[in-house]
Amino acid sequence: MAEVLDAIYEDDKERKLILREYRKLLRTIPDSATEQDWENVRKAFELAVRAHAAQRRKDGDPYILHPIEVARICAEEVGLGPTAVVAALLHDVVEDTNVTLEEIEQTFGERIALLVNGLTKLDRSVNAESPRAENFRKVLYWMVQDVRVGLIKIADRLHNMRTLSAMPRHKQLKIASETNFLYVPLAHRLGLYNIKTELEDLCLKVLNREAYQEIAEKLQATKEERAQFISRFIEPIKQKLDQQGMKYRILGRPKSISSILNKIRTKGVPFGQIYDLFAVRIILDVPPEQEKTACWVAYSLVTDVYAPLPERLKDWISTPKSNGYESLHTTVIGPDGKYVEVQIRTERMDEIAEKGYAAHWKYKGVRTQASSTFDRWLDEVRELLENKEADAREFVQYFKSNLFTQEVWVTTPKGDMIVLPKGATALDFAYHIHTEIGDHCQAVKVNQRLVPLGYKLQQGDQVEVITDAKQKPKKDWLKLVVTGKARSRIRQALKKEQRQVGELGKEALIRKLNNLKVQPVDQAIEMLVRYYEYPSHVDLYYAIATEQLTISALLAPFELKDHKLIPKPQPQSENGEEAGHAVADATPTTPVRPRPKATILIDGEPGEHYNYTFANCCNPVQGDEIFAFISRTGGLKIHRVSCPNATHLMANYDYRIRRAEWVTKQDAEFVAELRITGVDDGPGVIERLAHELSSKLRVNIRAFSILGGDDAYFEGTIKLIVANVNQLNLAIRTLKNLDNVDTVTRVN
Ligand code: MN
Repeated sequence: MAEVLDAIYEDDKERKLILREYRKLLRTIPDSATEQDWENVRKAFELAVRAHAAQRRKDGDPYILHPIEVARICAEEVGLGPTAVVAALLHDVVEDTNVTLEEIEQTFGERIALLVNGLTKLDRSVNAESPRAENFRKVLYWMVQDVRVGLIKIADRLHNMRTLSAMPRHKQLKIASETNFLYVPLAHRLGLYNIKTELEDLCLKVLNREAYQEIAEKLQATKEERAQFISRFIEPIKQKLDQQGMKYRILGRPKSISSILNKIRTKGVPFGQIYDLFAVRIILDVPPEQEKTACWVAYSLVTDVYAPLPERLKDWISTPKSNGYESLHTTVIGPDGKYVEVQIRTERMDEIAEKGYAAHWKYKGVRTQASSTFDRWLDEVRELLENKEADAREFVQYFKSNLFTQEVWVTTPKGDMIVLPKGATALDFAYHIHTEIGDHCQAVKVNQRLVPLGYKLQQGDQVEVITDAKQKPKKDWLKLVVTGKARSRIRQALKKEQRQVGELGKEALIRKLNNLKVQPVDQAIEMLVRYYEYPSHVDLYYAIATEQLTISALLAPFELKDHKLIPKPQPQSENGEEAGHAVADATPTTPVRPRPKATILIDGEPGEHYNYTFANCCNPVQGDEIFAFISRTGGLKIHRVSCPNATHLMANYDYRIRRAEWVTKQDAEFVAELRITGVDDGPGVIERLAHELSSKLRVNIRAFSILGGDDAYFEGTIKLIVANVNQLNLAIRTLKNLDNVDTVTRVN
């Protein structure tokens, strides 16, 4: 195997490094591996070495180190066998080099070709609207055929995250936010607890450097003190366990930085007041048939020593989490009155808890609830993938909304258990059972009593849905559900209804345009949709059909020229204000271009005497430092002093400059445009920004567009309507403070 390296790497040090890493990988391959397995690993290594010969990683290392390390993570940290090791060695070969899937299939067989295919990103030439969502869907598509696709993908991501510091900052942000958004939840679902925790912390380190640093330092500073406390806490428990002759390990582990930060945020407590910075874990070594009893014996021994908080007891043994996690958690009052979380589990449960899916197969002989919960989850993903209607973004959203760590179990009247995300409502339940049941949900009974459709389900509720064929989804229902499935089904139904109703509006509009001899009609409609900023044609038709907007009001701002609708020339300032109102009164729901109501002084005199307008190049807002410039036609243009044209104008046309000042008015309205960049951590990013602005600051948004949304990094512009520059600055500050926003600048 050394020969293949000799031909490629001239540097002796590099050859040695690669060989060392490769041998490390070989040591992870179990004794049970067959001749064929060893042969395949060797061939895969050689193929990968040749294929990646010309490639280097960002830090300058030979690229081949990456697939070797991914393969090692698969074997050692995920617990996968030789087949996955081979696939991991080859995982980037098809994507990055000339090697084809056919060649891989010929050399290594169908199964490994399937795994490599699942791990190969979609061709860049495929013009997908959101490639990262498409790629994620692809991974899941192959994962349900062979779960190792998902596991290897996570190992790949883990290595990339571990070596992220070699990347430029903007790439770090992209990769970390994508990891946080998609791969952390996936790792969680596959039960890869350790990896999930590490990924979370690695993401945090990039996405929120200051917070990460702060907690890391504080943890370091309190390390000694904590270690002493843990040993003081453990000692009496050890004695008890020894007296009973139990075989066990006991450890005190610090919690992850991200989970500590999470606590600080959700509970609103400072670092110093977080009592459970660590958890004590008791791992029992017992045969399968004694597991449950042994755990409860240990529980009673612990609670003999320390008083438990009964409400904090969590029995994940009788009912494992849906990712297969089994454990008994309790919080007790330790020395000095400090709360300590104690986790009790067996070696088998521990291995599954740490390594998840792969470990679970090792214990296939043992009948566990974990295996069936895994399988049930995979079935759900499969079902989800079959819904061809949803686009990739919707798919990802739905997938994510069903990845809540917290869940609630309820039952049907027949006693079937249904697992829903915590916070799910009665209506979510109905949609979970079936879309038809949801759409026609008339009432819901919980434990035999009627409850509102928005009732939040409680653990163990027995839920019965009463349907009525005449019932249909209503807009308000969107506020009553939390699951992606229910939400998307309700939206679908509403859209369908809107489309049906809208047909009337469409016909009426086309008839009117035909009467006016407008041509081509399609283009005119297109223009109207854009002019009034409706999200789609259907929305415009619906507004007409439901008489939110009459056709004459709709066409009022236009005149006919050569069979085309042309906007009427905009009257200047004050007159324009009236024209604007006329349209607004007739069509209350129509967005209307606002006009500035503020007045200004020019050379100390009221601006009414002048014909002035605000310059488009810098869009001044009340409170900005401004000046007036006499245009060629004699009118005055008001510019900001900070306008990019200002220096030029002032330097060359000194004689055309007039002093201008604001006369402050409360109800003034100005359009300000902001450019925002940030990390698009999901399809909801626009909604969240919009929510922040409109509901918290009560600022109206005129337009919002996101550019270059193909990656986790986004760039967008927002047009806001503000009363003055203070309000604008507040909006800028608020946006800047949002986690996923990087920069906010006023557009000139
Ligand atoms: Mn890779």
